[in-house]
Amino acid sequence: MPDDRLDETSETARFATRLTQVGRPGARAHGFVNAALVRGSTVLHPDLAHRAGMESQRYAQAQIYGTHGTPTHFALENAIAEIEGGTRCQIVSSGLSAITTPLLAFLKTGEHVLVPDNVYGPTRRFCDGMLAGLGIATTYYDPMITAEGLEGLMRPGTKVLFLESPGSHTFEVQDVPALAAVAHAHGAKVMIDNTWGIHFFQPFQHGCDVSIQAATKYIGGHSDIILGAVTVANDADWKRLRDAATALGQYASPDDCWLALRGVRSLGVRLKHQMEAGLDVASWLQTRPEVLRVLHPALPDSPGHAFWKRDFTGATSLFGVVLKPHHGIDAVGAMIDGMTLFGIGASWGGFESLILPTSGTISRSAGTGQFGGEMMRLHIGLEDVADIKADLERGFAKLHEATGG
Ligand SMILES: *Cc1c(COP(=O)(O)O)cnc(C)c1O
Repeated sequence: MPDDRLDETSETARFATRLTQVGRPGARAHGFVNAALVRGSTVLHPDLAHRAGMESQRYAQAQIYGTHGTPTHFALENAIAEIEGGTRCQIVSSGLSAITTPLLAFLKTGEHVLVPDNVYGPTRRFCDGMLAGLGIATTYYDPMITAEGLEGLMRPGTKVLFLESPGSHTFEVQDVPALAAVAHAHGAKVMIDNTWGIHFFQPFQHGCDVSIQAATKYIGGHSDIILGAVTVANDADWKRLRDAATALGQYASPDDCWLALRGVRSLGVRLKHQMEAGLDVASWLQTRPEVLRVLHPALPDSPGHAFWKRDFTGATSLFGVVLKPHHGIDAVGAMIDGMTLFGIGASWGGFESLILPTSGTISRSAGTGQFGGEMMRLHIGLEDVADIKADLERGFAKLHEATGG
């Protein structure tokens, strides 16, 4: 039983406060602040009647067998359901599993899924490979499509509308409520990869049925785990998702769940700081002579900014930068190689700033994603903003050298 005093506060408290309370064990942990790390496969029962009673609870957080979760998993599931504003959460092995598991849960042979053209690359590979092999067709659509446009793409077999808003390379914010309404009118489920929007976008208040988090990113927050979470808001969806996760043998290490719970405690303050630092750097980049455009959903120049303004309560710290066209790909390489504070690497949401060239990594089939110059993606971490800007200035000096003045 959770500690009553903690629970009462959760009901009314603001986000940062709730994050310090959710999923804590209360009296069960003999007064210790944090949940214990429980590792295990076999669960022993006092007698067979108890075992039978537990087996009947496979949709609940019951201690049946390790793959169904331990108290460490359940604590994290409750925390993420709270962050996403849903009712039930399933922890899975990676952010990518948090995408593939619900797609397999809600689609079958002969059916059709609509996926935005700017989708996370491995999601596209899963659709073109595994789903196509199972006889499930994918249509890629322009992420900025209108409700009328989407209406024209719906087929009798369309069962899932997949959203990723904003996209994690070119940052288009989608008109989620309008697109979700079209999908629902045709009996399709609406799934969103909400990794960027975490907390600032409440998926279930905007028409989504399934919300996906790569907990690897901001929830983990320290670049030391790989973990995914799928959240839903009603019992019927929960049963389908839970059955699929069980059938696929989805499991994540309790050690990683425990680290993610540790990340949850500071998520509020990290998101707040990274929003401010990210906006500061993005606005500064807009004033730089090398920069054509900054693709940051909270800036008016970014695609879908009006939808961000309407539907989001804040912004995370991952955004794109488009350079003026005379800076070629080699000059971008020299810039990035010349920087010392920013790490060169995939993933994001950790405490450290990261940079990557993105033009070459974007794979599109619906012809979207052309912004007029070489692109880079920046993740702003927890370093001092003055040092972050100084490192970018160092990079710009290299860019000019390589561009030839
Ligand atoms: C990183 C990422 C994922 C996948 O997360 P992993 O834990 O690395 O598998 C999914 N969606 C988006 C938008 C991501 O950036």
